[in-house]
Amino acid sequence: MKEIVFNNVCKFYDKTQVVSNLNMKINEGERLILLGPSGCGKSTTLRMIAGLEEITSGELYMNERCVNRVPSGDRNVSMVFQNYALFPHMTVSDNITYGLKVHKIDKHEIENRLKTALDMLHLKGLENRKPKDLSGGQRQRVALARAVVKRSDFFLLDEPLSNLDAQLRGHARKELVKIHEIYHQTFVYVTHDQVEAMTIGDRIALMRDGKLQMIDTPSNVYNRPANIFSAKFIGSPSTNILYVNYSEGNIILGRQKLLLPDIWANKVKISNIENLAIGIRPEHVKISMRPEKNSYKGIVKYIEDYGNKFGIYFEIEKNEIIAIMDENQFKPGDEVYLSLDFSKIHIFNRDTTESIGYPEEG
Ligand code: ADP
Repeated sequence: MKEIVFNNVCKFYDKTQVVSNLNMKINEGERLILLGPSGCGKSTTLRMIAGLEEITSGELYMNERCVNRVPSGDRNVSMVFQNYALFPHMTVSDNITYGLKVHKIDKHEIENRLKTALDMLHLKGLENRKPKDLSGGQRQRVALARAVVKRSDFFLLDEPLSNLDAQLRGHARKELVKIHEIYHQTFVYVTHDQVEAMTIGDRIALMRDGKLQMIDTPSNVYNRPANIFSAKFIGSPSTNILYVNYSEGNIILGRQKLLLPDIWANKVKISNIENLAIGIRPEHVKISMRPEKNSYKGIVKYIEDYGNKFGIYFEIEKNEIIAIMDENQFKPGDEVYLSLDFSKIHIFNRDTTESIGYPEEG
């Protein structure tokens, strides 16, 4: 099986720990995204798979064999870097086929793979150019072609699109997915860009400070965040968090209280936690100008006009909340009433920051 398994993997640079007790399994043929803020240990994790960084402790398995001591060249990986790392003195064709020649692959086979890659990545006509005579997008495609022709089991990409402008990035994302659908390598992709992660990934491994926060499908990362960090990292603007206390079926915010429906109240009761944090995405905030039953009262602070939507910032008992709405009837100073769509909220343990789960999970 061309899967990758991390068993309690740690990485230290001197005394600084940059990856902590990583346990995860990347399935054969899936597109796994390593996502998280800059410096959280994504590249280090990818480089451990590539065999470019030693593992301090724990075991890494690829293809069911422990590769802790296996050199990079024997791991059957191809890698694409952010800076492309093309040889400046070589032509496009030579850059793409160099690795195959080193491995003494049959000449006809090299020709075939080169032709397929040139076609697939729209590089026909550029075969004899040097990297300096290519645009950023073309260089990036050469780097991808060089990785694709290796036909390796593991395809590792470290922020490969971050040097491209927004339009090219969108195009390149689709190309990457197409390439993967042809070859089905086990695909591990590092990015700090949540849109790339959501659009390319079968699953996302979200990291923070060297620790895995959650690993799940894009839909579950968005709809079922495992903790407050995950809820806030995915989505823009970030998920609103209200710090409340639970008491006898109510969630209490400052001097105001709101009744939880039984399904949520039961869930909270089972978890036996009183200090809660409620997560609500800005696009799920429901507000009105008139007093509503079972709502929190707040004051509008300011309004942002995004052209097609409005951001309405308001405050409830010193908690700032943003609502994203199609229309705006508010102005600063207005009273506003927030009612919760209980099918769209997330409840976390305020002390551990972990999700308490969801009512339908029982
Ligand atoms: P990311 O890819 O998530 O931005 P990295 O894996 O590159 O993060 O880095 C994780 C942490 O390890 C960072 O704090 C970084 O400064 C540190 N780091 C990376 N490489 C080295 C190194 N060779 N020596 C010391 N510290 C390093």
